[in-house]
Amino acid sequence: MLEVNEKKYDYLIVGAGLFGSVFAHEMTKRNKKCLVIDKRDHLGGNVYCEKKEGINVHKYGAHIFHTNDKKIWDYVNQFATFNNYINSPLSLSKGKLYNLPFNMNTFYQLWGTKTPEEAKAVINEQIAKYGTKSPKNLEEQALSLAGKDIYETFIKEYTEKQWGKKATELPAFIIKRLPVRYTYDNNYFNDIYQGIPIGGYNTIIEGLLSGIETKTNIDFFEDRVQLESLADKVVYTGKIDEFFDYKYGQLEYRSLRFEHELKEIDNYQGNAVVNYNDSEYAFTRIIEHKHFEFGKQPKTIITREYPENWDRTKEAYYPINNDDNQRIYKKYKEEAKGMQNIIFGGRLAEYRYYDMHQIIASALTKVTEISEL
Ligand SMILES: Cc1cc2nc3c(=O)[nH]c(=O)nc-3n(C[C@H](O)[C@H](O)[C@H](O)COP(=O)(O)OP(=O)(O)OC[C@H]3O[C@@H](n4cnc5c(N)ncnc54)[C@H](O)[C@@H]3O)c2cc1C
Repeated sequence: MLEVNEKKYDYLIVGAGLFGSVFAHEMTKRNKKCLVIDKRDHLGGNVYCEKKEGINVHKYGAHIFHTNDKKIWDYVNQFATFNNYINSPLSLSKGKLYNLPFNMNTFYQLWGTKTPEEAKAVINEQIAKYGTKSPKNLEEQALSLAGKDIYETFIKEYTEKQWGKKATELPAFIIKRLPVRYTYDNNYFNDIYQGIPIGGYNTIIEGLLSGIETKTNIDFFEDRVQLESLADKVVYTGKIDEFFDYKYGQLEYRSLRFEHELKEIDNYQGNAVVNYNDSEYAFTRIIEHKHFEFGKQPKTIITREYPENWDRTKEAYYPINNDDNQRIYKKYKEEAKGMQNIIFGGRLAEYRYYDMHQIIASALTKVTEISEL
């Protein structure tokens, strides 16, 4: 049972992830009284970092902040200073390392091509030979966008592990574009602003929630009636189908299992992110956390990331955006619209993949909309 004063809150915020934390921060600034609860034993949602051996371990997967929006960049910089980390992942395929995203370095490593003209000629020739006009599945789509070598070296086995299905059984729309760069540029993101908060993401969450009442280890559904009675309005950032007791059906997700390992060496792979393309590895990538912050610790911590089928006992990571799930989601969304005192927001309540900068923007927009009513 939650122990709180008999006081009334303006907002009960379910979920202390970025959406809930930004919302609570902004409403507190507007003199609203907020209570933030989370069922986990920590605040921060999926951006939470666990400090081990002096290293910030990204407990729920590697998080790299990037945005083109100066407003959002200034917003997060109120709470933390960012380092100049640039995401430049590598991909291991058939025993050889390649640079990502697909750029002139990758093409040199694949084919020995040195100029954009040479690389374009190889790609275009392969697209002409293996591509189709109207691709019916992911394999045909990838072959039509980038040709055979790129598909077979980087996409096929990786994507099959990610989704647990053959590329020929996956819909073409999963890959809308396959950006190829004809410059020697390994910077994964195109955004102007990028980095990792010095001290980890917890610093941002602590700043956002400073002075706000928070309670962890509280599941909204275990005491829903009492919790709802505490506040005028509820901001709900959990799974939308769970909120409605799955009455229109269950929304599907893809899950991940993270296997963390402490290594008694100071540097395991020399880079924060290495993708493992081949099917012989059940994991899709290895993260070496210290490299996000240029760490000099004597030991290192690595994390292997295993894609998994999802069920209700597992963390829901990626929504599966097929027609069936969208049909179900629309019914929940429609019902949610009619609820005056419940505000739905965040990746789980909107059944949508959001990057961090997008979730912050979405919480700020929601606060503005409500404040202008
Ligand atoms: C593997 C992975 C890697 C990512 N990498 C990046 C990246 O590099 N860059 C980037 O910009 N973004 C990245 N993201 C996206 C980023 O994690 C999200 O944008 C952000 O965490 C979403 O915040 P949120 O508040 O919506 O959700 P969450 O962080 O999931 O917060 C929701 C919170 O609600 C709580 N909750 C749910 N139900 C209940 C309940 N019944 N009672 C109480 N509490 C409840 C949960 O415990 C959780 O803490 C990544 C996401 C994943 C999955």
